[in-house]
Amino acid sequence: MAEGRTAIGTGGSRGIGREVSLRLAALGYDIAIVYVGDENEAAETVKDCEANGIKAKAYVCDVSSFEETKDVVAQIRKDFENPVEALVNNAGITRDGLIAFMKESDWDSVLSVNLKGAFNMIRHTAALFIRNKGGRIVNISSVSGLMGNAGQANYSASKAGIVGLTKATARELAPKGITCNAVAPGFIRTDMTKNITEDSSELLRTIPLGRMGDVSDVASAVVFLLTSPYITGEVLRVDGGIAM
Ligand code: NAD
Repeated sequence: MAEGRTAIGTGGSRGIGREVSLRLAALGYDIAIVYVGDENEAAETVKDCEANGIKAKAYVCDVSSFEETKDVVAQIRKDFENPVEALVNNAGITRDGLIAFMKESDWDSVLSVNLKGAFNMIRHTAALFIRNKGGRIVNISSVSGLMGNAGQANYSASKAGIVGLTKATARELAPKGITCNAVAPGFIRTDMTKNITEDSSELLRTIPLGRMGDVSDVASAVVFLLTSPYITGEVLRVDGGIAM
Protein backbone atom coordinates (compact mmCIF):
# COMPACT_ATOMS: atom_id res chain seq x y z
CA MET A 1 0.00 0.00 0.00
CA ALA A 2 1.51 3.30 -1.13
CA GLU A 3 0.14 5.50 1.64
CA GLY A 4 1.15 9.12 1.83
CA ARG A 5 2.24 9.61 -1.78
CA THR A 6 1.07 11.76 -4.64
CA ALA A 7 1.21 10.83 -8.32
CA ILE A 8 0.90 13.32 -11.16
CA GLY A 9 -0.54 11.98 -14.40
CA THR A 10 -0.74 14.07 -17.56
CA GLY A 11 -3.68 13.25 -19.79
CA GLY A 12 -5.04 11.39 -16.79
CA SER A 13 -8.65 12.33 -17.46
CA ARG A 14 -9.53 9.69 -20.04
CA GLY A 15 -8.28 6.71 -22.03
CA ILE A 16 -5.03 5.13 -20.89
CA GLY A 17 -4.36 7.98 -18.44
CA ARG A 18 -7.72 7.51 -16.71
CA GLU A 19 -7.02 3.80 -16.18
CA VAL A 20 -3.56 4.62 -14.76
CA SER A 21 -5.16 7.19 -12.41
CA LEU A 22 -7.67 4.61 -11.16
CA ARG A 23 -5.03 1.92 -10.63
CA LEU A 24 -2.79 4.29 -8.68
CA ALA A 25 -5.74 5.53 -6.61
CA ALA A 26 -6.53 1.90 -5.74
CA LEU A 27 -2.92 1.53 -4.55
CA GLY A 28 -3.41 4.49 -2.21
CA TYR A 29 -1.71 7.27 -4.18
CA ASP A 30 -3.25 10.74 -4.14
CA ILE A 31 -3.84 11.72 -7.76
CA ALA A 32 -3.18 15.02 -9.56
CA ILE A 33 -4.51 14.92 -13.10
CA VAL A 34 -3.17 17.42 -15.65
CA TYR A 35 -5.29 17.64 -18.77
CA VAL A 36 -6.95 19.75 -21.44
CA GLY A 37 -10.38 19.15 -22.94
CA ASP A 38 -13.56 17.68 -21.55
CA GLU A 39 -14.22 18.87 -17.97
CA ASN A 40 -16.89 16.24 -17.38
CA GLU A 41 -14.55 13.38 -18.21
CA ALA A 42 -11.98 14.82 -15.80
CA ALA A 43 -14.58 15.32 -13.03
CA GLU A 44 -15.78 11.74 -13.43
CA THR A 45 -12.23 10.37 -13.22
CA VAL A 46 -11.57 12.46 -10.09
CA LYS A 47 -14.77 11.13 -8.51
CA ASP A 48 -13.90 7.52 -9.36
CA CYS A 49 -10.38 7.97 -7.93
CA GLU A 50 -11.79 9.51 -4.73
CA ALA A 51 -13.96 6.43 -4.25
CA ASN A 52 -10.72 4.75 -3.10
CA GLY A 53 -10.54 7.15 -0.15
CA ILE A 54 -7.64 9.16 -1.55
CA LYS A 55 -7.39 12.82 -2.56
CA ALA A 56 -7.74 13.59 -6.27
CA LYS A 57 -7.85 16.84 -8.21
CA ALA A 58 -7.79 17.76 -11.91
CA TYR A 59 -5.91 20.74 -13.35
CA VAL A 60 -6.43 22.25 -16.78
CA CYS A 61 -2.94 22.82 -18.13
CA ASP A 62 -1.39 22.60 -21.57
CA VAL A 63 1.70 20.45 -21.09
CA SER A 64 3.39 22.05 -24.09
CA SER A 65 3.68 25.33 -22.14
CA PHE A 66 6.80 25.68 -19.99
CA GLU A 67 5.14 28.36 -17.84
CA GLU A 68 1.80 26.58 -17.39
CA THR A 69 3.52 23.34 -16.35
CA LYS A 70 5.75 25.22 -13.92
CA ASP A 71 2.69 26.84 -12.35
CA VAL A 72 0.67 23.63 -12.20
CA VAL A 73 3.46 21.71 -10.44
CA ALA A 74 3.76 24.56 -7.90
CA GLN A 75 -0.02 24.48 -7.38
CA ILE A 76 -0.06 20.69 -6.95
CA ARG A 77 2.66 21.01 -4.29
CA LYS A 78 0.46 23.52 -2.43
CA ASP A 79 -2.72 21.46 -2.77
CA PHE A 80 -1.36 18.04 -1.80
CA GLU A 81 0.11 17.34 1.63
CA ASN A 82 1.70 14.07 0.55
CA PRO A 83 4.96 14.27 -1.41
CA VAL A 84 4.99 13.90 -5.19
CA GLU A 85 6.65 10.54 -5.76
CA ALA A 86 5.45 9.57 -9.23
CA LEU A 87 5.01 11.26 -12.60
CA VAL A 88 3.31 9.64 -15.58
CA ASN A 89 3.78 11.56 -18.84
CA ASN A 90 0.86 10.24 -20.82
CA ALA A 91 -0.63 13.32 -22.55
CA GLY A 92 -0.44 12.87 -26.29
CA ILE A 93 -2.03 13.86 -29.58
CA THR A 94 -1.89 12.78 -33.22
CA ARG A 95 -2.04 14.97 -36.33
CA ASP A 96 -1.42 12.34 -38.99
CA GLY A 97 -0.53 13.11 -42.60
CA LEU A 98 1.90 12.14 -45.32
CA ILE A 99 5.23 13.85 -44.86
CA ALA A 100 5.17 15.44 -48.34
CA PHE A 101 1.99 17.30 -47.36
CA MET A 102 2.35 17.65 -43.58
CA LYS A 103 1.58 21.14 -42.28
CA GLU A 104 4.33 22.77 -40.25
CA SER A 105 1.76 23.43 -37.52
CA ASP A 106 0.94 19.70 -37.32
CA TRP A 107 4.62 18.86 -36.89
CA ASP A 108 5.06 21.56 -34.24
CA SER A 109 1.96 20.77 -32.20
CA VAL A 110 2.65 17.03 -31.98
CA LEU A 111 6.30 17.55 -30.99
CA SER A 112 5.28 20.25 -28.49
CA VAL A 113 2.64 18.21 -26.68
CA ASN A 114 4.14 14.72 -26.88
CA LEU A 115 7.84 15.42 -26.41
CA LYS A 116 8.28 18.91 -25.00
CA GLY A 117 5.31 18.25 -22.71
CA ALA A 118 7.15 15.34 -21.11
CA PHE A 119 10.33 17.42 -20.82
CA ASN A 120 8.39 20.29 -19.20
CA MET A 121 6.87 18.02 -16.57
CA ILE A 122 10.15 16.27 -15.76
CA ARG A 123 11.91 19.64 -15.68
CA HIS A 124 9.50 20.99 -13.07
CA THR A 125 9.22 17.88 -10.89
CA ALA A 126 12.87 16.77 -10.90
CA ALA A 127 13.79 19.12 -8.06
CA LEU A 128 10.96 17.69 -5.93
CA PHE A 129 12.15 14.14 -6.56
CA ILE A 130 15.77 15.08 -5.81
CA ARG A 131 14.73 16.76 -2.56
CA ASN A 132 12.68 13.66 -1.59
CA LYS A 133 15.65 11.41 -2.47
CA GLY A 134 13.55 9.31 -4.82
CA GLY A 135 10.85 9.28 -7.42
CA ARG A 136 9.45 7.32 -10.33
CA ILE A 137 8.83 8.62 -13.84
CA VAL A 138 7.05 6.70 -16.58
CA ASN A 139 6.73 8.20 -20.05
CA ILE A 140 4.29 6.87 -22.63
CA SER A 141 5.98 6.26 -25.96
CA SER A 142 4.54 4.13 -28.78
CA VAL A 143 5.55 1.36 -31.14
CA SER A 144 5.31 4.09 -33.80
CA GLY A 145 8.37 5.60 -32.16
CA LEU A 146 10.25 2.29 -32.19
CA MET A 147 9.39 1.16 -35.73
CA GLY A 148 8.23 4.31 -37.52
CA ASN A 149 4.76 4.48 -39.02
CA ALA A 150 3.90 5.79 -42.48
CA GLY A 151 1.67 8.86 -42.21
CA GLN A 152 2.91 9.61 -38.69
CA ALA A 153 6.32 11.26 -39.15
CA ASN A 154 5.52 13.83 -36.48
CA TYR A 155 4.05 11.31 -34.01
CA SER A 156 6.79 8.70 -34.60
CA ALA A 157 9.50 11.34 -34.13
CA SER A 158 7.90 12.56 -30.89
CA LYS A 159 7.60 9.02 -29.52
CA ALA A 160 11.16 8.09 -30.55
CA GLY A 161 12.22 11.30 -28.80
CA ILE A 162 10.49 10.03 -25.66
CA VAL A 163 12.81 7.00 -25.72
CA GLY A 164 15.91 9.22 -25.79
CA LEU A 165 14.47 11.54 -23.14
CA THR A 166 13.68 8.52 -20.95
CA LYS A 167 17.18 7.05 -21.17
CA ALA A 168 18.99 10.37 -20.66
CA THR A 169 16.76 11.17 -17.68
CA ALA A 170 17.28 7.68 -16.27
CA ARG A 171 21.06 8.01 -16.43
CA GLU A 172 21.09 11.54 -15.06
CA LEU A 173 18.74 10.95 -12.14
CA ALA A 174 19.77 7.39 -11.18
CA PRO A 175 22.37 8.64 -8.67
CA LYS A 176 19.52 10.46 -6.90
CA GLY A 177 17.48 7.25 -6.55
CA ILE A 178 15.02 8.30 -9.26
CA THR A 179 13.94 5.86 -11.97
CA CYS A 180 12.67 6.79 -15.43
CA ASN A 181 11.14 4.26 -17.82
CA ALA A 182 8.88 4.21 -20.86
CA VAL A 183 5.95 2.14 -21.97
CA ALA A 184 5.44 1.70 -25.71
CA PRO A 185 1.86 0.67 -26.47
CA GLY A 186 0.73 -0.74 -29.80
CA PHE A 187 -2.90 -0.40 -30.90
CA ILE A 188 -4.97 0.26 -27.77
CA ARG A 189 -8.73 0.80 -27.82
CA THR A 190 -9.30 4.47 -26.82
CA ASP A 191 -10.73 7.65 -28.37
CA MET A 192 -7.36 8.17 -30.06
CA THR A 193 -7.85 4.99 -32.09
CA LYS A 194 -11.63 5.18 -32.54
CA ASN A 195 -11.22 5.31 -36.34
CA ILE A 196 -9.32 2.03 -36.41
CA THR A 197 -11.62 -0.95 -36.75
CA GLU A 198 -10.45 -4.24 -35.37
CA ASP A 199 -12.41 -6.07 -38.08
CA SER A 200 -9.70 -5.02 -40.47
CA SER A 201 -7.85 -8.28 -41.00
CA GLU A 202 -4.90 -6.27 -42.33
CA LEU A 203 -4.42 -4.65 -38.91
CA LEU A 204 -4.85 -7.92 -37.05
CA ARG A 205 -2.21 -9.56 -39.22
CA THR A 206 0.36 -7.07 -37.86
CA ILE A 207 -0.46 -8.01 -34.25
CA PRO A 208 0.90 -11.46 -33.33
CA LEU A 209 -1.56 -11.78 -30.43
CA GLY A 210 -4.38 -11.05 -32.88
CA ARG A 211 -6.24 -8.29 -31.03
CA MET A 212 -6.03 -4.65 -30.07
CA GLY A 213 -4.95 -3.94 -26.50
CA ASP A 214 -7.06 -2.57 -23.65
CA VAL A 215 -6.23 0.40 -21.44
CA SER A 216 -5.78 -2.07 -18.59
CA ASP A 217 -2.95 -3.81 -20.51
CA VAL A 218 -1.03 -0.51 -20.61
CA ALA A 219 -1.93 0.57 -17.06
CA SER A 220 -0.58 -2.73 -15.69
CA ALA A 221 2.80 -2.03 -17.31
CA VAL A 222 2.85 1.54 -15.98
CA VAL A 223 2.08 0.38 -12.44
CA PHE A 224 4.72 -2.36 -12.72
CA LEU A 225 7.40 0.18 -13.65
CA LEU A 226 6.24 2.65 -10.99
CA THR A 227 6.64 -0.05 -8.35
CA SER A 228 9.96 -1.52 -9.58
CA PRO A 229 12.88 0.14 -7.79
CA TYR A 230 15.61 -1.67 -9.76
CA ILE A 231 14.42 -1.02 -13.32
CA THR A 232 15.43 2.20 -15.05
CA GLY A 233 15.94 3.32 -18.66
CA GLU A 234 13.70 0.49 -19.85
CA VAL A 235 11.22 0.68 -22.74
CA LEU A 236 8.48 -1.85 -22.16
CA ARG A 237 6.39 -2.71 -25.21
CA VAL A 238 2.70 -3.43 -24.64
CA ASP A 239 1.81 -4.17 -28.23
CA GLY A 240 0.69 -7.77 -28.62
CA GLY A 241 4.09 -8.49 -30.14
CA ILE A 242 4.04 -5.99 -33.05
CA ALA A 243 7.56 -4.67 -32.58
CA MET A 244 9.35 -7.82 -31.40
P1 NAD B 1 -6.67 10.03 -25.48
O1 NAD B 1 -6.82 10.93 -26.66
O2 NAD B 1 -7.82 9.19 -25.08
O3 NAD B 1 -6.21 10.89 -24.21
C1 NAD B 1 -5.21 11.83 -24.33
C2 NAD B 1 -5.10 12.60 -23.05
O4 NAD B 1 -4.06 13.58 -23.23
C3 NAD B 1 -6.35 13.35 -22.64
O5 NAD B 1 -6.56 13.17 -21.24
C4 NAD B 1 -6.02 14.82 -22.91
O6 NAD B 1 -6.60 15.68 -21.95
C5 NAD B 1 -4.53 14.83 -22.76
N1 NAD B 1 -3.90 15.91 -23.52
C6 NAD B 1 -3.88 16.08 -24.87
N2 NAD B 1 -3.22 17.21 -25.18
C7 NAD B 1 -2.83 17.76 -24.01
C8 NAD B 1 -2.11 18.94 -23.66
N3 NAD B 1 -1.67 19.80 -24.58
N4 NAD B 1 -1.90 19.21 -22.34
C9 NAD B 1 -2.35 18.36 -21.38
N5 NAD B 1 -3.02 17.22 -21.65
C10 NAD B 1 -3.26 16.94 -22.95
O7 NAD B 1 -5.37 9.16 -25.79
P2 NAD B 1 -4.92 7.69 -25.31
O8 NAD B 1 -5.21 6.76 -26.41
O9 NAD B 1 -5.41 7.42 -23.93
O10 NAD B 1 -3.33 7.92 -25.31
C11 NAD B 1 -2.60 8.21 -24.14
C12 NAD B 1 -1.12 8.15 -24.51
O11 NAD B 1 -0.80 6.87 -25.03
C13 NAD B 1 -0.71 9.17 -25.57
O12 NAD B 1 0.57 9.66 -25.28
C14 NAD B 1 -0.65 8.32 -26.83
O13 NAD B 1 0.23 8.86 -27.79
C15 NAD B 1 -0.14 7.02 -26.27
N6 NAD B 1 -0.43 5.87 -27.11
C16 NAD B 1 -1.71 5.51 -27.39
C17 NAD B 1 -1.95 4.42 -28.22
C18 NAD B 1 -3.33 3.96 -28.56
O14 NAD B 1 -3.46 3.04 -29.39
N7 NAD B 1 -4.37 4.52 -27.99
C19 NAD B 1 -0.87 3.71 -28.75
C20 NAD B 1 0.42 4.10 -28.44
C21 NAD B 1 0.63 5.18 -27.61
